[in-house]
Amino acid sequence: MYTWHRLMHSVSWGWRFHQVHHTDASMNISTAYRFHLVEVFLSGIPKLFLIWVFGISPSHLLIYEILYAIELVFHHSNFALPLKIDKCLSDFIVTPNYHRAHHSQSWQETQSNYASFLTIWDKLFKLHYYPQYPDKIKLGLEKSNNNLNIMELILMPLYH
Ligand SMILES: [Zn+2]
Repeated sequence: MYTWHRLMHSVSWGWRFHQVHHTDASMNISTAYRFHLVEVFLSGIPKLFLIWVFGISPSHLLIYEILYAIELVFHHSNFALPLKIDKCLSDFIVTPNYHRAHHSQSWQETQSNYASFLTIWDKLFKLHYYPQYPDKIKLGLEKSNNNLNIMELILMPLYH
């Protein structure tokens, strides 16, 4: 999923779909489910391939999917952990403030914190960044397309 997320930001066709996830101007649990259907479908292909290659059992996959879903909702939420705890936890797992930087309008901040579960991947690629003032981060896309309706979001990859 880490490689997939990096790909979605680095190739133009990937960003066309992934930008839908980044249009939210305020982060909450719904942001965790704000993905273009094409991206959801395409991301399943490498996942299925890895399940086949490593022979992952249904029970192990279920455990992974449950933990992943909990973490996805947690780090997209507006759950306000005390700053010190959030920062400390972000040395290991993705926290709300840590992930806010990835949803920043600032291109430099968006190019960091790609992890969706363990932050060791960002540390490995020197993309681990903890924002000094998480509350001050302007979320969403720089261009003014934060208030698009569902049809506009579905068609967004065709026009942006
Ligand atoms: Zn992203």
